[in-house]
Amino acid sequence: MSRVVRTGAALGISAALMFAAACGTSSATDAASTSSKASAGSTSAEQVNVAVSVNQWKSLAEQIGGDKVSVSAILSNQNVEAHDFEPQPSDVAKISKAKIVVANGADYDPWATKAAANANVTVVNAADAAGIKEGANPHIWFSAEVRKATAKSYVEQLKKVDAADADYFDAQYKKWEQSESKLEDAITEAKKTTKGLAYAATESVAYYLAEDLGMKDATPTGYAQATTNESEPSPGDISAFQKQLAAGSIDMLVLNEQETNSTTDMISKSAEKAGVPIVRLTESMPEDYTDLTAWVEALVSDFSDAAQK
Ligand SMILES: [Zn+2]
Repeated sequence: MSRVVRTGAALGISAALMFAAACGTSSATDAASTSSKASAGSTSAEQVNVAVSVNQWKSLAEQIGGDKVSVSAILSNQNVEAHDFEPQPSDVAKISKAKIVVANGADYDPWATKAAANANVTVVNAADAAGIKEGANPHIWFSAEVRKATAKSYVEQLKKVDAADADYFDAQYKKWEQSESKLEDAITEAKKTTKGLAYAATESVAYYLAEDLGMKDATPTGYAQATTNESEPSPGDISAFQKQLAAGSIDMLVLNEQETNSTTDMISKSAEKAGVPIVRLTESMPEDYTDLTAWVEALVSDFSDAAQK
């Protein structure tokens, strides 16, 4: 919102130059590693190099790939505004050298899909896998449907890249499905308390999770539109939000702690004053969670707790 920082054209140009450099070296090493693999007659010794654009998708890539993959995430920092992230040349190089890139898509990480396309790397695009259209809410890792579609698309690509380990990947995928299905049970259980409740959000990060929990988005329209367009809500939008909190028509406030400013501070103070419970979360996955499933499960219980306040 107000902390939008554009690093300008200079970085763009240097990144573009690095693309070219990285592309050249990557295709050379790719060719070399492919031929050495072929002559060795075995693929299992070498791990598949996977790069994920944002750390929300890292654990899924690791769980399904198991010890046959080596996964690195580019954006993991919760102190960075995810929507305005600009990669370093070293980040772009990571993507160029990968065998598979897992990207979020939905215009959340255009830098990743661009770099992957330039280097001709196989991309698993979560939004595309789930049929999420350009311009839709991009916080799709919080959607059960998108997680499942992404996992399926990823395991298919893994099996193409490393066919010798196909059975292994299938087994890992089944394990992942089991943990996701446990999470779904937790969502179904929480829904008993959250279904039909109205929430308002400082930023639409939890949109899909709230939808899975059967909740209604009651964020005042003017405010919601302004934040979606990454512009500043008007004083009228802010006071409408505060009035709605005070009026008691909102059951809980969802606060994106990774996108805060003086406006969101005012709104959370109004919520506290009105006794509206606040669910706090971030875009990037916090370090204290081992995987996406565990993180979402913890948030589900936060929503359920807030519903019972
Ligand atoms: Zn966001």
